[in-house]
Amino acid sequence: MGLLSVAQMYKMDAVLTHIRNHIALQNPPLIREESAFSVYALAQKHGLRTEALQAARCTLNFSTMIIEKLSEDDKLGLMPCAFLHELWKYHKRVRESLASDIEEFKTLHLNELEILEDPSCSFGDLDIPFWLESYVSYLGKDYDPFSLDFTDFKVTFVEHSQGVDSKSGEKCGFCSEIDEEDLCAIWDSFTAVVQGCIAKAESDFTLSVEGTRSECEVQARSYREAPSPPKYSDMPNADIILRSSDLVNFRIHRSVLVTSSPFFRDMFSLPQPSNDVAPDGLPVLHLSETAEVLDSLISMLYPVSPEIPHSIDSILALLAATDKYDMGAVQSFIRAEVSCKGLLSPSDSGGTFHMFTAACSKRLLPEMETAARLTLGYPLTFESIGETLRSFDGEALCGLADFRLRCVRKLASRMESFADYRNGPSKIWAGCPIHRSPSSPPQLPWWLARLFCKYSFDDPVPTSVQFRDEFLAGLQKHINENDCHFCLKVYALKGEAYCAESEGMLELARNVPFLNSGDDPAV
Ligand SMILES: [Zn+2]
Ligand SMILES: [Zn+2]
Repeated sequence: MGLLSVAQMYKMDAVLTHIRNHIALQNPPLIREESAFSVYALAQKHGLRTEALQAARCTLNFSTMIIEKLSEDDKLGLMPCAFLHELWKYHKRVRESLASDIEEFKTLHLNELEILEDPSCSFGDLDIPFWLESYVSYLGKDYDPFSLDFTDFKVTFVEHSQGVDSKSGEKCGFCSEIDEEDLCAIWDSFTAVVQGCIAKAESDFTLSVEGTRSECEVQARSYREAPSPPKYSDMPNADIILRSSDLVNFRIHRSVLVTSSPFFRDMFSLPQPSNDVAPDGLPVLHLSETAEVLDSLISMLYPVSPEIPHSIDSILALLAATDKYDMGAVQSFIRAEVSCKGLLSPSDSGGTFHMFTAACSKRLLPEMETAARLTLGYPLTFESIGETLRSFDGEALCGLADFRLRCVRKLASRMESFADYRNGPSKIWAGCPIHRSPSSPPQLPWWLARLFCKYSFDDPVPTSVQFRDEFLAGLQKHINENDCHFCLKVYALKGEAYCAESEGMLELARNVPFLNSGDDPAV
């Protein structure tokens, strides 16, 4: 890949072609199932569109592009998330255009094919043999991998026409008349449609190095609010100037910095370079924080009312600054203030995932954990993370997927014992007589059992309040619809205690530590 990128950089087209021809002859091929992700990542890194697309096409054959699956297969950490996001969008485009083009293919093309006229084994409005209809419809559905394999197609055909797929085992009189040549013609026109979809998806494919930065920055900026003008930029009798990254001067006192920060104490104990001096003779210290963050930080150091920034990004930047300048006491104060006022509570999935990645990049562990727990309220999918994924670090996504997996597992195991109708707390409901014949053994009524269905990455992990609400809604509906005196009575006698117990169960399941300590006693 390095070689190719050098050849591309110097526009050595003949050399590029030569290397590519050489690669194409390799056996086993360079791009295959085991290597596709790595080759894709490398090609993205080196800006090689041809190879990136070849590898991306290969991943269609085996990968579902679902975070849960990628995490299981250890594929998340292989590349920067911006590359991963591009790959996911490619998969999505292929599937979207397959869905519409195959529909068109069925209604326009197959429906009018002479060889398929009036098949005796069709169903619905389309005059197409049903094995063919379901074969083409199935391709690329959901996130299943797919490959174009004529043998596979032919097996489906033969099984149907020889009656293997029917209960009676009878041959299909109509389809067994279709000869090899016709079958190939159908296959060819079908593969042309699929290839067309892939080509369409490829034309929109961008290498992530091309201009994704600006998009990403725009995204980050949209979470910020306009800062108010600094309040504490001019302290009387100041003896030093702090200059923010956006060039605002803060005239303050050295002594204040020294008493609150070992970092500044050490710095001022060294001789200061005298070349950076303001017109009034005060030395200037350039800091990387913005004016909003510095203003807030200074408000913590003087006996004035503390100014906590409004946006989550600035709060995190403020905490990171206290880390950097070693201001432990100030940091604890900010954390207490922020948690008491509930300032770190993003309103939507984009904001929540953004807060997580921002906390990760600043290495603020408590905020990472808070944000990770908040993400449990949303599905952990490419759709739900959206464009924010570009700013994710591969390791951060791995950590989040791992955390989610541990939560979901713990929840599943807690729910299983909770829902056990013989020994668990839910056994009180097992006698519900609705939809159950008197002779069958006791079991959990369906209105309750459905609350304990398996949770996956695609579902938010419920909070105890959400679970209780859902429980009460389900119970009420059940009682109203079936006039179930049994459940009404159980609820009146033991309902409250049962709810309290369910809350305890959910809290335990959600309290999985963010960082995996290695041993997981709950699972
Ligand atoms: Zn048939
Ligand atoms: Zn009932």
